[in-house]
Amino acid sequence: MIRSAEEIAKMRKAGRVVAEIIEKTRAAIRPGVTTLEIDAVARSVIESRGARSNFLNYHGFPAVICTSPNDMIVHGIPGDYLVEEGDLLSVDCGAIVEGYHGDAAYTVAVGEVSAVARRLVEVTERSLWAGIDAMVPGGRLHDIGRAVQQVAESAGFSVVRKYVGHAIGTQMHEEPQVPNYWPGTPGPKLKVGNVYAVEPMVNVGTYDTTELDDGWSVVTADGSLSAHFEHTIAVTDGGPEVLTAPL
Ligand code: MG
Ligand code: MG
Repeated sequence: MIRSAEEIAKMRKAGRVVAEIIEKTRAAIRPGVTTLEIDAVARSVIESRGARSNFLNYHGFPAVICTSPNDMIVHGIPGDYLVEEGDLLSVDCGAIVEGYHGDAAYTVAVGEVSAVARRLVEVTERSLWAGIDAMVPGGRLHDIGRAVQQVAESAGFSVVRKYVGHAIGTQMHEEPQVPNYWPGTPGPKLKVGNVYAVEPMVNVGTYDTTELDDGWSVVTADGSLSAHFEHTIAVTDGGPEVLTAPL
């Protein structure tokens, strides 16, 4: 799907709202806060900007963000979980403006965390930016995953296979998918006007995953820590434009 300059301008607006959600939720994360309170911060940003939530009611999801602590990879439901010193907390968030979607995620270390936890967060964020750097016109879609995988695996970590990135536009999840690893083929050519959500999920141990009984929460199969970073990025003549990055 090729998005026009007008469409990308709308996605830029959605991305600004998502960037504000990132900044305000990040500032709210501290020991003693519940994940439901963090969700309320995101809700207030969405309301104050006249945006809509793309997470709320998505296949019945009950909140506007996902909150996934420690060995939880993605899709955690905000609730009475009390954030503690030493936690890793992954927050996935999004918004719709004028019918166009933005989607992003980050992982934060709460206070003092273990050395491996700190390194996992740093490596996962760096793997996202390595993937973004591959988003140049004429490149190939799977160059993104190859770059992500190279960063994550050379640090001794694993890249989740079951959950991947995606094209994004008038729907949050559009085709094609964007694997965070080299799937064996180069994939389609990257063209000006393509917009993708790139979202590496990186684990300390195995990349295998388990879904919990709540029907949403996905955790590492071996209980090891996981981190998740995501941005919505447009391929432009000048290279990748990250629409959801805080300024
Ligand atoms: Mg997301
Ligand atoms: Mg996404």
